[in-house]
Amino acid sequence: MTGSPTYDDVLAAAQRIRGHAHETPVMRSSTLDAELGAQLFLKCENLQRMGAFKFRGAFNALSRLDAARRRAGVVAFSSGNHAQAIALSARLLGIPATILMPHDAPAAKVEATRGYGGRVVVYDRYRQDRELLGRELAEREGLTLIPPYDHADVLSGQGTVAKELFEQVGELDALFVPLGGGGLLSGCALATRALSPQCRLYGVEPAAGNDGQQSFRSGAIVHIDTPRTIADGAQTQHLGQLTFPIIRRDVTDIVTAGDSELVDAMRFLAARMKLLVEPTGCLGLAGARSMKGQIDGLRVGVVLSGGNVDLARFAELVAR
Ligand SMILES: *Cc1c(COP(=O)(O)O)cnc(C)c1O
Repeated sequence: MTGSPTYDDVLAAAQRIRGHAHETPVMRSSTLDAELGAQLFLKCENLQRMGAFKFRGAFNALSRLDAARRRAGVVAFSSGNHAQAIALSARLLGIPATILMPHDAPAAKVEATRGYGGRVVVYDRYRQDRELLGRELAEREGLTLIPPYDHADVLSGQGTVAKELFEQVGELDALFVPLGGGGLLSGCALATRALSPQCRLYGVEPAAGNDGQQSFRSGAIVHIDTPRTIADGAQTQHLGQLTFPIIRRDVTDIVTAGDSELVDAMRFLAARMKLLVEPTGCLGLAGARSMKGQIDGLRVGVVLSGGNVDLARFAELVAR
């Protein structure tokens, strides 16, 4: 693939992952509709294989490797879900996988990655540059590095989330998508502009690290220190070279959500909808709630991006 990905790449990804990824359900809640005066459609990627949408991009990217690269193996760096997605996809495709994970990654994510057969190498996320470590390891061992978001096949795979959602519920007036490095948002942007062109599209990132919002509004990629937030899947320091131009072109705006709004959303989803969603996975719902009053009467999509959270951690958060 050369140049910036297009909706055709999302379509091709959908073909490759068919039969491997789940078609996740869309859930509704009359309580939520009443609260926001809108019709909400929640796309449940917390029920995706390995517990997050990241399986889509990972499986798509690994499916495209030739036989020699598959034999040599792949390496990924990730705060968790991308790691699990690569480990599971690699196992399904018979490819050896090495995963670089931060020392403080949630235990459930580290265990799951090992459980899928991945070799885990630990680093310090506040001191070491994971991209540099990943590149060094790839070079030394002849591995193919699969980055978590800034990769054409990864973001095209993530875009199948929005493609599937529009196929399930038809066009929408607004769509709220969690934002870390922008693989999910940029992929969903390609599908949104093709399938529901009038839909307002919002990225939602943690308030503690609004580099995406700053980048979107200033027109240049802003780098920040690793933000401290409970949204561990969105602790990215900057948008990508591939993801940013698509976001800048196709997204309506980027809004933020604080940790307490994420906890409120987690509690609501569990108590009222029986859905276990990790803090990062709640960004979209928290973002939609923050725009109460501006989405009256609209058909609103929300991506619940993942559900991987230690149960003890979940209990501690929602009990606060
Ligand atoms: C990775 C991740 C995100 C952010 O995705 P990007 O493609 O980095 O923007 C959001 N939610 C969950 C659950 C994730 O694992």
